[in-house]
Amino acid sequence: SQKRNYKMKNLWSDSEAKKIVKSNSKKGISKELALRVYTSRLLGNNKKLVMHGGGNTSVKCKAKDYFGNSIDILNIKGSGWDLGNIEAEGLPAVRLKELLNLLKLDKLTDEEMVNAQRNNLLNSSSPTPSVETLLHAIIPYRFVDHTHSDAILSIVDQHNSQEIIEKIYGNNALFIPYIMPGFILAKKAKMYLEKYPKCKLIILDKHGIFTFGETAKSSYDAMINFVTKAERFIASNKSQFVKQIKSFKNNAIFTIENIAPIIRGILKNFEPSDYQNNIILNFRSNKNILEYVNGEKLNIYSQKGTVTPDHVIRTKQLPMVIKLKDLSNLQSFRDYFLLELKKYIKKYNSYFDSNNKRLGYNKIKLDSLPRVILVPGLGLISIGNNNKNAMIVGDLAETNINVILDAEKIGSYKTISNSNAFDME
Ligand code: ZN
Repeated sequence: SQKRNYKMKNLWSDSEAKKIVKSNSKKGISKELALRVYTSRLLGNNKKLVMHGGGNTSVKCKAKDYFGNSIDILNIKGSGWDLGNIEAEGLPAVRLKELLNLLKLDKLTDEEMVNAQRNNLLNSSSPTPSVETLLHAIIPYRFVDHTHSDAILSIVDQHNSQEIIEKIYGNNALFIPYIMPGFILAKKAKMYLEKYPKCKLIILDKHGIFTFGETAKSSYDAMINFVTKAERFIASNKSQFVKQIKSFKNNAIFTIENIAPIIRGILKNFEPSDYQNNIILNFRSNKNILEYVNGEKLNIYSQKGTVTPDHVIRTKQLPMVIKLKDLSNLQSFRDYFLLELKKYIKKYNSYFDSNNKRLGYNKIKLDSLPRVILVPGLGLISIGNNNKNAMIVGDLAETNINVILDAEKIGSYKTISNSNAFDME
């Protein structure tokens, strides 16, 4: 399971920075871009800031076009790259002026936005720039860092998030209400920023944090410092307990070794599809996971949705919860699991159908199977179509558990609506 560092550590090292600048300069990579790679990796290797492709970073530089003219570009994280081991080629260069021009449009679909961003790549074979590219473009600082920090999420995932953010950051933070990442969010953020150009950080409600600066170090320092403030707030405001169910019967029968093969067998044969051909379960359990799954209100806090919108893509909006309490043997577990799975699928299908109706019936449903199963008394099972994906889902589910536990200790967990989650999915 993940190692948790309870305090943000600033890992900037002048000598490491120098080394990475030197080794990149041999490959013709600028100092700015090399330092952008360096601090992106620092962020990406901190599990309390960034998990599996979450978060993104950028730097605004100069480059030469075909005609030898100097142009402004934005190097922004490309899709398919992970901040923890990113290289310069994982930060494709996009023409900045053209990106900013896009924001003069009234409307731009996601597909048009991605296409316009690709059209303005300096190298046509670069990966597709992040969906948050336009937001990076409008922030008038050279370096921009964005994470879905655990501590920030425990705070923004509250009904009174704006009030708490003001309490912690005074008037340093620009607070932006939830809007799905993309064109509309960038347009709204631009409007907010123009009204409040002196802000030192941006908080996206129910989503994450942006910091920025003229140097790689100052933007990174700001991320560590502002997240540390959030961690301190949580530590000194944990006034509630997550009430626990104490007794679990039949622990000798319902071990993970006994139930996992039954779960896997049912999932694999339920409605055979490509996804299920190589289905893999990952099981994990630790103090936090048990505190979460053994909570009296598990059925409430686990059924609200993910802690930040892009987890939906990997974990689905809701985990399945199974209870072993009233069962006597493994055959009864088999029958029970099948019944609960049918209920989960029915619920997922009605979530899909009602949202698809809202959007004019133009969405295609993938499979309806859960990605996460929570088992009180035991722990967390994640599901993937290979081992790597099962692990990633498990890591994200564990992050959700850590964030929601803290959210429940300082207040009451609240996230985006069903329809917002669906739009992301
Ligand atoms: Zn984000």
